[in-house]
Amino acid sequence: MAPGAMNRWTHSLSDAQPVPYWLDDPGRPRPQPALTTSETCDLLVVGGGYSGLWTALIAKERDPGRDVVLVEGREVGWAASGRNGGFCAASLTHGLPNGLARWPQEIHRLQELGARNLDAIEAAVARHSIDCDFERTGEIDVATEPYQAAELRDWHEETVRRGLAEDVEYLDAEAVREQVNSPTFQAGLWDRRGVAMLHPAKLAWGLKQACVKLGVRVHEHTPALTLKPYGAGMAVRTPYGRIRARQVALGTNIFPSLVRRVRSYTVPVYDYALMTEPLTEGQLASIGWKNRQGLGDSANQFHYFRLSADNRVLWGGYDAVYPYGGRVRAEYDDRPETYAKLAGHFFTCFPQLEGVRFTHAWGGAIDTCSRFSAFFGTAHQRKVAYAAGYTGLGVGATRFGAEVMLDLLSGERTERTELDMVRKKPLPFPPEPFAWTGIALTKWSLARADAQAGRRNLWLRTMDRLGLGFDS
Ligand SMILES: Cc1cc2nc3c(=O)[nH]c(=O)nc-3n(C[C@H](O)[C@H](O)[C@H](O)COP(=O)(O)OP(=O)(O)OC[C@H]3O[C@@H](n4cnc5c(N)ncnc54)[C@H](O)[C@@H]3O)c2cc1C
Repeated sequence: MAPGAMNRWTHSLSDAQPVPYWLDDPGRPRPQPALTTSETCDLLVVGGGYSGLWTALIAKERDPGRDVVLVEGREVGWAASGRNGGFCAASLTHGLPNGLARWPQEIHRLQELGARNLDAIEAAVARHSIDCDFERTGEIDVATEPYQAAELRDWHEETVRRGLAEDVEYLDAEAVREQVNSPTFQAGLWDRRGVAMLHPAKLAWGLKQACVKLGVRVHEHTPALTLKPYGAGMAVRTPYGRIRARQVALGTNIFPSLVRRVRSYTVPVYDYALMTEPLTEGQLASIGWKNRQGLGDSANQFHYFRLSADNRVLWGGYDAVYPYGGRVRAEYDDRPETYAKLAGHFFTCFPQLEGVRFTHAWGGAIDTCSRFSAFFGTAHQRKVAYAAGYTGLGVGATRFGAEVMLDLLSGERTERTELDMVRKKPLPFPPEPFAWTGIALTKWSLARADAQAGRRNLWLRTMDRLGLGFDS
């Protein structure tokens, strides 16, 4: 990297606030009051991200008479749900390639359930008047290397043959640049219906409002400290009060689970993003992007990028940082060396935008599991259900996870609970130093594969055979 260029890129970051753009919003609602007494309820939901919010909302929609309480340790949407890229995908399996590799027998069913889930999100956004800039634009996977273009074409042919590519179009270099003009783009696959773009924090805030309207008692700044059996139900201790609940649903993502044995299934992987100032009409015209799709490139170390409602560009991904020891800490949310790297990559992709400045730069923890897609389970004789491990694709899939948790608590067999994906768990991560060493070796190998036309070394091939992986 030439020193002059490095200076130009870091200059573009000099005013960037180290806070998630989406949460830096004058419309951020006031938190609901903390719990200061003792409560009883039918269903206690722990966690005020999408997982918990969808669980509480759907519980009420399924049975309006159910008495539901939701507790959030800080503020609704402050964590992953308020700081993600806002790509709301139909895929429940962290993308079709991962789903097809792991569950070939049920992939058609999983795709269908995922498409229905995304339709249900769109319908709920309309039903509850959630103002979250929901736009069903689809997403283009772009190739930036010739080998990636060939892989995209082969993959498209294979998925068409298998009947898995409805509404997916292959774009050659000219066609993809007609959509979004970058000199680096060599081909693309445009999934027209399978992904929506939205404002992540506004979705979380809107879901909270919908929960409150339906009678869910939401308490923010109320961490659940312990979870224990109590009589026929469960008891949860919080700093100022105790909650007795017939059943409990845990939507606590990467934070230490109140069911200890769940903890080893996930590790936090930090992902980072930048947001530009709003583009001028001239700047926007220079890159096209009239159909406003989300984009992601096809390398192992990939970028994701999209427009906001006011035509900023969000540019994220690439570095996936696992901190030794696997702890979630606020200090990891800010990483200037990654921001400088991301800014450089942004101007390589869009040289027309030279001079554009970034207003926000931030990071957050992703709950990565070894199969990249959520796992589910129950504890305490089915009085507690949990869902976690969405890796980098939980904006849409958390709604499906909420339905699974409610199915499991109801004790009913449903089309969801019969899935292998729901019945089986991923392999857990080993303790340190093995987790760090394995992840570091995998990351090094993935970067090497990107530099060597996608060729996977022995370590990656072995991991593939074992069905183990690392992603963000
Ligand atoms: C930078 C970044 C970019 C991403 N981009 C995308 C994307 O574009 N598309 C996509 O699909 N996914 C993306 N993801 C992933 C997605 O954001 C998550 O999968 C999703 O938000 C998970 O929702 P959740 O409710 O399970 O977790 P969270 O949003 O993390 O919510 C969990 C909540 O539980 C609370 N909590 C935890 N323990 C307790 C306790 N004991 N008591 C009370 N409260 C507790 C926490 O305070 C937190 O608010 C991204 C993630 C990050 C970090």
